[in-house]
Amino acid sequence: MRYTSTRDESISCSFEDAVCSGYAPDGGLFVPERLPVIDTQMLREFSTLTFAQLAAKIMRLFISTEEIPDIEIQQICKKSFEDAFESKDSDHDSIIPIVKIGNSHIIELFHGPTFCFKDFGMQAVVNILSYFSTKRNKKINLIVSTTGDTGPACVAAVAGAANPNLTLLVHFPKGQISSFQRKQMTTANSPFVHVASFEGGGDDMDLPIKNILAAADTGIKCCGVNSYNIGRPLIQMIHFVWTYLRVAEQNHMDIGDPSKCLDVIIPTGAMGNIAGAYIAKCCGIPIGKLCAGVNINDITDRVIRKGRFHKSEKMEKTLSEAINIQVPYNFERLLFYLTGQDHELVKAWMTTMEATSKLDLDSTWLERLQETFSSAKVTDHEMCECMKKVKSVYDYFIDPHTSVAISAAEKLGYCLEGENEVGSSMFAILATASPCKFEESVTTAIGIEGWNEYQRLHFPEKAKEIIRKTEVEPTEYLLPDGMTILDVQPQWQKLAQDIMFSTFS
Ligand SMILES: *Cc1c(COP(=O)(O)O)cnc(C)c1O
Repeated sequence: MRYTSTRDESISCSFEDAVCSGYAPDGGLFVPERLPVIDTQMLREFSTLTFAQLAAKIMRLFISTEEIPDIEIQQICKKSFEDAFESKDSDHDSIIPIVKIGNSHIIELFHGPTFCFKDFGMQAVVNILSYFSTKRNKKINLIVSTTGDTGPACVAAVAGAANPNLTLLVHFPKGQISSFQRKQMTTANSPFVHVASFEGGGDDMDLPIKNILAAADTGIKCCGVNSYNIGRPLIQMIHFVWTYLRVAEQNHMDIGDPSKCLDVIIPTGAMGNIAGAYIAKCCGIPIGKLCAGVNINDITDRVIRKGRFHKSEKMEKTLSEAINIQVPYNFERLLFYLTGQDHELVKAWMTTMEATSKLDLDSTWLERLQETFSSAKVTDHEMCECMKKVKSVYDYFIDPHTSVAISAAEKLGYCLEGENEVGSSMFAILATASPCKFEESVTTAIGIEGWNEYQRLHFPEKAKEIIRKTEVEPTEYLLPDGMTILDVQPQWQKLAQDIMFSTFS
């Protein structure tokens, strides 16, 4: 299987080259040259596998044996999805419990080492990179920016890989992630991890990182592992296949029956998770509508409902910070598959977007987009009300992002109780993080009594250990008075480069 760029068909590279760099050399995103077909027969075979076995089968479809032999893929999956999740492989429920509330299936994707769905993509991608760095005896330095959960997931994976060839520089927006998330990074105590904070919004380090990745390889190989890296959405398709199989089973449906699709509702930021769902659907998994729940940083909602992909002036603070985003980079992959892999058109669109911060889809493309995608925007107030309601009606605690998804589902006509107003009868809501990560937001929503009750009854033991550890102060990238983000981004880029050379080379 070869990989190409969303913007240029003539680019062709191995999986290793794609996953070890991040962006494609033309600034586009890597995608597989062809998508494999997963038919009903295969799905039936998949239905008896453990998560790690399923992951290995699906990864095999996208990575040739010459690049990673079977035995190594299996080891990577075991390390990523059994050892890291401390799951027992015979137990279907331990890695992704599915909770039924009313009509809906809540897919708890937060039982990994850092209590967030990002552990799925990140564990596997980091272990794959670790495999390649050992195979080539070459150093790889990962560089990441986080809106809160990518960072901890990457820190845990890199610390867990404990490979001197694999190091990480991680950045978070100061004051805009929860104290628990910060601690997950600043208490890592790994010689392979360096943590920095910057005085900006969620994606203000994206451009400096993109420039660093584009700069010539000057001795140290840099690799970006935010979800523009093709490894992330590819691995993230696995939990959608798994979700489909388990929900189909629970509802006694024929596996693969195309007349019974599963709609999914996903709290959406950079669109890496929804891109995984879309790839799964394009490969043939009976997934129906892909629904994005977003907060008031609503570019995704604006493009899905009105065709206007316009970067907004500024990032708004919210109680669901992991989905605070101004430009979701995986939209480019959505466009790529929506257009039937039309590189030229995607290139034209993205060139417009990069030049003007605006892209308008005409009505034909908007209709196409809406055939598969829908979305709803949720305010902080609505998110809080939803969290309160789910607690009081179902005695179930959710995190702010899951609450955005549930609230979005209701706005779109998916009813927790009674008959749905839309779509297929089956739908699943992705619970992307554990409430334990979001004390501040959860307390705002359900009050200190609610938080205390959660802490007493449900707070994970592993999470308590993190709170007790001592923090190491991160390096700070400053925004001096009178300067704008655009002014300081070049300095931040230089700082990041200096850290990589002084610490890791
Ligand atoms: C990252 C994140 C999301 C958004 O996922 P994307 O792939 O960026 O769309 C949703 N919820 C939580 C808790 C997250 O950490």
